[in-house]
Amino acid sequence: MEIPQRRNTMDEAVLLCFRVEDLAHPITGAAVERCDLCGASVWVAPSSRRMRKESGLELPPVCHHCTPAVIAELPPDEKVEIQKLTADQIEELAAEVKRRRGSE
Ligand SMILES: [Zn+2]
Repeated sequence: MEIPQRRNTMDEAVLLCFRVEDLAHPITGAAVERCDLCGASVWVAPSSRRMRKESGLELPPVCHHCTPAVIAELPPDEKVEIQKLTADQIEELAAEVKRRRGSE
């Protein structure tokens, strides 16, 4: 659900999140937080909250509507990097798929 996105350093990394209004069925255990830019309610998955806690990084949530603004703020020569899913996130997604299949 969230993909951590780096700017030039990990200190500037953010969590890309879906807005609550755009995702009716988030991953189980997702918490509602506020987009750091527009204040919209966003979903933050348990794995992302664990990553934030373990990394000690701020990792503010940014909604997908605000993502273009974040990218536009970067100097033109700066690369945007999207971090791969962590093992914890992949496990969380797999468990969610199993859970949903089981409830069909
Ligand atoms: Zn936003």
